[in-house]
Amino acid sequence: MNQRIQGIGMTSRRTRERMIERLKTQGIYDPKVLAAMAETPRHIFVDEALASRSYEDTALPIGYNQTISQPYIVAKMTELLLENGHLSRVLEIGTGSGYQTAILAALVDKVYSVERIGPLLKKAKNNLWDLKLKNVSYQHNDGGWGWPEQAPFDGILVAAAPSEIPDTLLQQLEVGGVMLIPIGSRHHQELHKITRTVEGYEDKVLEPVSFVPFLSGRS
Ligand code: SAH
Repeated sequence: MNQRIQGIGMTSRRTRERMIERLKTQGIYDPKVLAAMAETPRHIFVDEALASRSYEDTALPIGYNQTISQPYIVAKMTELLLENGHLSRVLEIGTGSGYQTAILAALVDKVYSVERIGPLLKKAKNNLWDLKLKNVSYQHNDGGWGWPEQAPFDGILVAAAPSEIPDTLLQQLEVGGVMLIPIGSRHHQELHKITRTVEGYEDKVLEPVSFVPFLSGRS
């Protein structure tokens, strides 16, 4: 394994193990999620200058006014998404650094990831390529459209907060499928777990969260 991926000191496997211990005390219990996070080098998804902070439990800047999500929230959303069993086709809106994408790619059959900022998507793609994660398709687009050509999905994970649940995404969810999405304003958001049933949709409001806003268009 190359030096950049392997890491040393504050980016070493041992530092990552400490992050895993912390996630357990924060209530993350799914062994598959914990294993994927123990295997995935988070430090390659941030700028070198911030690499030594990459295993702290904070969001960090990744440029273009965006942030890599905090490890706890990545773990929590992944755990909730997988709660009802294995998933085969997952749509992710907001690739960002690609860290959450890498965790998903390790745990589901296929990930479809959409990002509106071109340069971020390019960097994320390169990092996932370096990690040899090949079960991911990418699209440079406004995720408000979802990915109709590939729908329906049995899982949808949204990493930016719209003010209300986008109808297009609801329609692209399979019956029995699950969507994790933060909803709210810049200052107050809550994580929702939406399950599509034969009759309609079940909406469970979980914990308060803090994501960047869901924006339209692409750049
Ligand atoms: N899980 C990512 C989080 C990145 S922040 C990580 O850990 O790195 C959220 C991302 O959502 C940003 O990159 C932002 O550009 C993107 N985003 C916001 N609104 C979007 C939209 N409508 N379509 C696609 N991506 C969007």
